[in-house]
Amino acid sequence: MSQLLWSTPETLRALLCEVVSWDSITLTEGETTFAPKVLDKLRELKYFQEHPSHLQLHDAGLGRHAVIALYKHPKAVETVVLISHFDTVQTEEYGVLEPLAYFPEELTKKLMENPSDLPETARVDLETGKYLFGRGTMDMKMGLALHMQLIEKASVEEWPINLVLTTVPDEEVNSAGMRAAVTQLVRLREEFGLTYKLFLNSEPSFSQNPSDIAEYIYSGTIGKIMPAALFYGKETHVGEPMKGMTANYIASYLTQQMEWNSLFRETDLGESTPLPVSLQQKDLKLSYSTQTPYRAISLFNVFLFKRTASEVMALFEQVATKAMNTLNTDYQKICEREEVKGVGEVKVLRYEQLLAYANQKLGKKEVERLKQEVLVQEEWDDREKSLRIVDNLMIQCQELAPATVILFAPPYYPAVNTSNDPLIVEAVELMKKSGQSFNNKIDQIHYFNGICDLSYVNYEDTGNGWTAFENNTPVWGDTYSIPFEDMAQLKGPVLNVGPFGKDAHQRTERLHVDSAFIEMPVMLETLLKSLY
Ligand SMILES: [Zn+2]
Repeated sequence: MSQLLWSTPETLRALLCEVVSWDSITLTEGETTFAPKVLDKLRELKYFQEHPSHLQLHDAGLGRHAVIALYKHPKAVETVVLISHFDTVQTEEYGVLEPLAYFPEELTKKLMENPSDLPETARVDLETGKYLFGRGTMDMKMGLALHMQLIEKASVEEWPINLVLTTVPDEEVNSAGMRAAVTQLVRLREEFGLTYKLFLNSEPSFSQNPSDIAEYIYSGTIGKIMPAALFYGKETHVGEPMKGMTANYIASYLTQQMEWNSLFRETDLGESTPLPVSLQQKDLKLSYSTQTPYRAISLFNVFLFKRTASEVMALFEQVATKAMNTLNTDYQKICEREEVKGVGEVKVLRYEQLLAYANQKLGKKEVERLKQEVLVQEEWDDREKSLRIVDNLMIQCQELAPATVILFAPPYYPAVNTSNDPLIVEAVELMKKSGQSFNNKIDQIHYFNGICDLSYVNYEDTGNGWTAFENNTPVWGDTYSIPFEDMAQLKGPVLNVGPFGKDAHQRTERLHVDSAFIEMPVMLETLLKSLY
């Protein structure tokens, strides 16, 4: 088997270091040049020289591309989709070592010179010689390297099962890459008559606490959605505070009710979602003045197991209504004490209600113009744009104020879980056994807690629960969309099996070399061979 390019621990390690050296921080130039480099690398394989059309780049926006590489056995229908992302988070935290962040061998050597610069646990790991440090080693270029190794081996040995290597940009920010790939995977299935038997991601195994060295495989992934609100009060001068109502005052009531609210906790298969927290709360006043801030925004993080967007919106509305009822009661008392009439009760309305009202009042054309004013602002991301659209509409509909307008801001990651699928039950047992042969204890987690692109396959939602997302996400269809219907077509169990590593997104990001270069290749090959 000496003709294989990436089959030994040494050649696989060199492949990893090469793909790590192609820096690809989300939303940088490197992210746009990475995909063609993967394509060139895969062209070194004889199979793709003979089947050039099986290597494809697909537009993922902003000059970025998803890579799809199909190994098709002439007789096989059953297909495994191998999913990875190639973007990484930034590298500022490396400080003076930043130039080495993409050169794992050099970085690891350099760290050896001053091991005491590292936190204790990282230092201990470094000195074992069993870890390779560097940005993207663990999260998750090792996963991509393993998939490249698999597709090489399968094509040379002619495994009777098809593989679709899918590697995408933008996982760390908006998952534009995977959302674009989904539609292509549906098309590819039709074109080649494939059956998707398994969606296999190879995100790393995350330790559950700093001293945890257990390895995990994941039979699902947690979901995440971001309820947001725009608070529209009434402006006044600081000398006449009772003539207005600040948006900050309104916002504080919702924040109090949302943070750590156990209504949003979901429990399934013995696991629970972390509680919601606030990600942002700010007023929209551009500079200091003695006019009071009358517009503010809040953004919350909510994790999901089973709930749809519609269910979360209903809960969020309930919480916002309760918060505003409390506010209205408190405010009424203050008005009585100060003997003033006040500015009225704060209403709660969904973005879709505001939009319907604005369309009626201003006409669709004008509403579209107001949206476009915001959408063309390139310096704003999708979250900022979402909230600014609401703001722009509210300015034209001030008779609705004081009000709390509730909405969703992108991105949205639906939860997926296939723990009970018979194929997964068997695969988990097989992986545990395979791990044992390396003296590793492998545990199953039902929901990968790191957010990953498996969210965009095997979408199940019989009640059209996504419509609340479409209707309440102001940038929907303009700068953000999710192919829910295509996702629902990508039926099939999901599994995440990846190498062991630690401290993703930190300067001490590191990959366990035995897990990555010795154990994972055997485990993944065992898994794929069990499927045919
Ligand atoms: Zn990742």
